[in-house]
Amino acid sequence: MVFFHLMSQVNHLHLLNSIFGHKTFRGQQEKIVLHLCSGKDCLVLMPTSAGKSLCYQIPALMRDGVGVIISPLIALMKDQVDNLNEMGVRARALNSSLSFNEVLEVQKLLREGRLDLLYLAPEKLANKPFFSFLKTLNIALFAIDEAHCISEWGHDFRPSYLQLGFLKKYFPQVPLIALTATADKQTRVEILEKLKIPEENLFLSSFDRPNISYEIIEKKRPKEQLLAFLKENKGESGIVYCMSRKKVEDLALWLTEKGLKALPYHAGLDEKLRERNQNTFIKEEEIIMVATVAFGMGIDKPNVRFVAHMDLPKSLEAYYQETGRAGRDGLPSKAWMTYGLDSVVYLKKLMENSEADNERKLVEKKKCDQLISYCESIQCRRQSLLEYFDEPYKGPCKNCDNCWTTQESVDATLWSKMALSAVFRTGESFGVHHLVSLLRGENNEKIRQFNHENLSVFGIGKMNSPFLWKTLFRKLIAENYLRVDSEGFGALSLSPKSAQILKEGQKVFLKNKCHSKNDQKRSEFIDGDPHKKKVDFKDDFQKKLFDDLRAFRLKLSRERGVAPYHIFIDRTLMEMADKRPQTMKDLRNLHGVGNFKLRRYGKLFVDFLSESVSLQ
Ligand code: ZN
Repeated sequence: MVFFHLMSQVNHLHLLNSIFGHKTFRGQQEKIVLHLCSGKDCLVLMPTSAGKSLCYQIPALMRDGVGVIISPLIALMKDQVDNLNEMGVRARALNSSLSFNEVLEVQKLLREGRLDLLYLAPEKLANKPFFSFLKTLNIALFAIDEAHCISEWGHDFRPSYLQLGFLKKYFPQVPLIALTATADKQTRVEILEKLKIPEENLFLSSFDRPNISYEIIEKKRPKEQLLAFLKENKGESGIVYCMSRKKVEDLALWLTEKGLKALPYHAGLDEKLRERNQNTFIKEEEIIMVATVAFGMGIDKPNVRFVAHMDLPKSLEAYYQETGRAGRDGLPSKAWMTYGLDSVVYLKKLMENSEADNERKLVEKKKCDQLISYCESIQCRRQSLLEYFDEPYKGPCKNCDNCWTTQESVDATLWSKMALSAVFRTGESFGVHHLVSLLRGENNEKIRQFNHENLSVFGIGKMNSPFLWKTLFRKLIAENYLRVDSEGFGALSLSPKSAQILKEGQKVFLKNKCHSKNDQKRSEFIDGDPHKKKVDFKDDFQKKLFDDLRAFRLKLSRERGVAPYHIFIDRTLMEMADKRPQTMKDLRNLHGVGNFKLRRYGKLFVDFLSESVSLQ
């Protein structure tokens, strides 16, 4: 046993370096690798970019037979297979995108024991002849990616995942690893139960993504606000999420007119166009993908530098997952969102109109409230987000808008009473817009039409700007002091909680962010904190060299028909620009340069570097 342990230690470290070009394991990777190698099952919860795939790829290479990875997304399988092939690993995929002959070819390779890793769509397991074939193979391990898809309560349930519960019955000796980047406590328990993994075999990592900064801004003129944000991130790739298909198309067009490389993506687009846009995003640089949530799962592009939300996501889990598509390579990245009254009203209406059964409705309502209170909160965003996943975090993170800005607190109890009376006096049948006009004493047509200029509340709120009133109404709705009608016209009515303000002395405070200090704070914080890994170049030459290397990589990737990051990731190029290796041996020492890649691309890059450096 001792001997085996020592042997495996040599082997797994050797593989890590020779194939993947990494010097050391990160976090719990090594523990998980050894756990699987010893034949035990486990569930791994790790955030995106923490290196989940290494946890099964290395044991699959070390153990006898082929490692079978169940993955729900064809795009992701293809990406992983391409990436592994670029490192010299014998990997293939089996899914509905393959032709009959391609399937036969993969099966032949499997029969002859000439594959290290097989990526498999879950539906394939329901195919009886294929399942029988699988039983004749020597299998190193089963890995179930996106394991939260097995949870019926989760946000991404897939019926084809349910049958995975039977794997252990037919392959009792084959170790099984389930992996996910999103699972709250309930989902976690469900995965363990369904896959029959003992609770003590759970590997739980921190869900923190320290390289992502979080920012939520008050929605005013959202398109212009987005444009300003995109200008701040000029030359980078990113995703902009919108709620509706129409909005996606309008915004993509508008951004293109503004001179940006923006592409639309939603489920209603022609399939060919959709695929082409996705490929452009993966294989080119500086592309802004404007998309509905139909886009993103299965996108493994490591240098997505920002994720912007023009509308609220479905839940806090969805927000974490969607923003998590930024910065897979660990370099500084941004999660940015505009948030306003319309978002809250929309979400509340959606909840009211939900056709789910009562139990489910309660869950949905809770998730909606959690999301809204996250947006309204003045607490460190990272802290709130991690608390949602039951992870204690000692803030402030210094890398979110609430940590950058100072907050000013105003007693808004009296104004809240005015707002609630305005709702009551108008018969609980008007929306925010009209109520604000009423409070501010605006003499417009609608006011006159309903004789609202004669009400006692007419004009009692002149002292506040329309914007402040809207913010206050948003807060009252967000905290359930007011209800939004379910008919769809946005009329507000009092709720059982209203009485707390009107009669029971409940105080209301409005927190105003001092935005003027924002930018200064932000740069101060980032500069002052070494953990933020701000992309820093020593001098202009290094920055230029990095840009030149990126352009060289893009040219190379176009010639070879592979994604740029399958050649080398940005981090490797950054190390190249910094250390400027002049020999193959020096290049091999950089992060992400394994033996196979060295043979394939080493000379090209060493030549390019020596030429660039000699021109300096
Ligand atoms: Zn923070």
